[in-house]
Amino acid sequence: MTDEPSSAPGTDLFEQAPERVRVLLPLPLAEPYDYAVPPETHLEPGAIVEVPLGRRRLHGVVLGPADDTVPADKLKAVIRRFPIDPLPNAVVELVKWTASWTLAPMGSVVRLAMSVPAAFEPPKPIRAFVRNPAAPDKEPRLTPARRRVLDLLEDGPPRTTTDIAVEAAVGAGVVKGMLEAGLLVTVDLPSEPAIPKPDPDYEAPELTSDQEAAAASLRGAVSEPGFGVTLLDGVTGSGKTEVYLEAVAEALKQGRQALVLVPEIALSTPWLERFEARFGVTPAVWHSEIGPPRRRAVWRAVSEGRARVVVGARSALFLPFRELGVIVVDEEHDAAYKQDDGVSYHGRDMAIVRARIEDIPIVLATATPSLETWTNVETGRFRRLELPARYGPARLPDIDLVDLRRDRPERGRWLSNTLSRAVHATVERGEQALLFLNRRGYAPLTLCRACGHRIECPSCSAWLVEHRLSGRLQCHHCGFSSRLPEKCPSCGAEDSLVASGPGIERVAEEVYERFPDARVQTVSSDTLTGPAAAAEFVRAMTAGEIDILVGTQIVAKGYHFPGLTLVGVVDADLGLSGGDLRAGERTFQLLQQVAGRAGRSRKPGRVLLQTHQPDDPLMQAIAASDRDGFLNREADGRRLQGMPPFGRLAALIVSAKDADQADAVARALARSAPRLEGVDILGPAPAPLSLLRGRHRRRLLLKADRRANVQAILREWLSRVPIPGTVRLGIDVDPYSFM
Ligand code: ADP
Ligand code: ZN
Repeated sequence: MTDEPSSAPGTDLFEQAPERVRVLLPLPLAEPYDYAVPPETHLEPGAIVEVPLGRRRLHGVVLGPADDTVPADKLKAVIRRFPIDPLPNAVVELVKWTASWTLAPMGSVVRLAMSVPAAFEPPKPIRAFVRNPAAPDKEPRLTPARRRVLDLLEDGPPRTTTDIAVEAAVGAGVVKGMLEAGLLVTVDLPSEPAIPKPDPDYEAPELTSDQEAAAASLRGAVSEPGFGVTLLDGVTGSGKTEVYLEAVAEALKQGRQALVLVPEIALSTPWLERFEARFGVTPAVWHSEIGPPRRRAVWRAVSEGRARVVVGARSALFLPFRELGVIVVDEEHDAAYKQDDGVSYHGRDMAIVRARIEDIPIVLATATPSLETWTNVETGRFRRLELPARYGPARLPDIDLVDLRRDRPERGRWLSNTLSRAVHATVERGEQALLFLNRRGYAPLTLCRACGHRIECPSCSAWLVEHRLSGRLQCHHCGFSSRLPEKCPSCGAEDSLVASGPGIERVAEEVYERFPDARVQTVSSDTLTGPAAAAEFVRAMTAGEIDILVGTQIVAKGYHFPGLTLVGVVDADLGLSGGDLRAGERTFQLLQQVAGRAGRSRKPGRVLLQTHQPDDPLMQAIAASDRDGFLNREADGRRLQGMPPFGRLAALIVSAKDADQADAVARALARSAPRLEGVDILGPAPAPLSLLRGRHRRRLLLKADRRANVQAILREWLSRVPIPGTVRLGIDVDPYSFM
């Protein structure tokens, strides 16, 4: 993430109206297509147009004038220009940059910027009715139905036919008749929900002196234009949100827009409430789960400058802001910022690119910086602001390791005596405990005691996970599910299938047994299915209606529960197996995040980590709260091995329904691999998930020196290997998943 954007942003408006334009279509195409410009149509770069392609009509974005290489008789004309402002130049630049960085076709990337085609048309106004002020006030011969309608409309606000039908209990015909009789007149209402304006002076918090120093520094960065990256490095509960909202407030005061990226928006109801407390209104929200009407409204409001602050998932980066003044990336270390489907881009990295194109500051907030960010701070490329202490009387919790080799739970149980006693004492005191295990369902494996058969997904090389609450076996990779069979599917033995290993449902089962009087709640993505469920969970937890919470990583992040004083990690070693490059880093981050849920208010917090390897430097670092020591050691290890961020990686994933075909293409790629100094090609090898959704997968990994131009090497390499249509080649520059 070091290269400059491929071309400098600028406003290269055409000098004369061009006769031909290059139009980028939202299809997996690397290049734009040329079209003729109809007479009297003005098409500047970024203009959104409708064009013919074969027998289809598509929308596209004008990139600029075209030369005359396409013969005139082959050239089709633009059908029309949508009546909306062109995409801002920064978005077009970001699309180009993302495409050249990820090697995704530019057309696939531009889809991210035009994901709501309905937004290109002006909204159709809603027709509503009011009393005709010119109609005589006392109409003698009114039917009771008409009288009810006039009475209803007495109070002023216009109503639609549906409103009137419901509220005055009349049919649509009555309204129509009254309109014809001149008793009513129509008014057009805007059909889009209004986006309220946040007020930067609504309710500024009283900041502590550390917070104020950090906030003042961020305000300074926002008030004078210029690109710069700041790491807001604050321990859990230090008030990072409070501080970065001051940067947002400053952008608003400067008349600019602000974008806040968060990893899991659906669950951030508390975040939205805090925003509202600070600015008087909720912000515009952008993520994959909001419905089409709302998406359309937000897209237009951003483009027209009516939305001043957007909080969203990574795709919000491609929204058409015209006056962006600051970007905040909350929980910058979170792996959810990396998209692994389609265009493999990293939301944090592309946010930095957008900030650089816009020439504005960007704030990365976290308690556990990624090694990439940490290294950029060390080398002075990023600035760092520190919040070293928790807000108010809260102190960071004490963290202790429980050695599972000595304090071993009995067979089929998962809680050690130490942890169990601590939970007991916590509940006795009327406080809350969280038992954390990052595994959904009841058991990760179902095994036949008779023949040893393990039940696998039919289309993936993965075990099926038992979900006892729903009574099913599920594949967590493709979504396949089936009933738990009565006999072993392999040997036919009856009553021989046993659950192996714990998921949170199984831990909860043990908790019910051990603490029959406690109020227990299990929380995972299976139970927190949407914003309403999340809000209810937060309410119950805050009101103290839950004594023991058993949850996955979904409860590890962001929440602030004052009564939660004990966090028990059931299996701290869980994320460490698998040999993933970032396994250690991620485990450290996750454990520190979940530990950070304990003791966030007056009562002190305690954290117990159950582990089989208490001597591991990672566990020691967590127990000693030695984050910087951990990061520095991790950095040394990566530097030594030439791994990111000190070297570069790119993964190629070849997949096909036919295993031999996948092998053949993978081998062909290996044979024509570039032989360059400082560049190693590893593989091909079957991917750890060698079968996924019925496709056989092979991986190659390119490992290069930090200064290597990985994109150029890949482009040259891949141009020499023909890929049959039945084989898919996924390219992942800077991969985060090694499955
Ligand atoms: P972090 O994001 O750093 O983990 P938060 O921003 O969630 O921390 O802050 C922790 C808690 O402390 C929140 O409930 C927040 O509202 C409160 N808090 C932090 N700073 C202040 C402040 N200056 N005034 C009032 N409350 C604050
Ligand atoms: Zn599957």
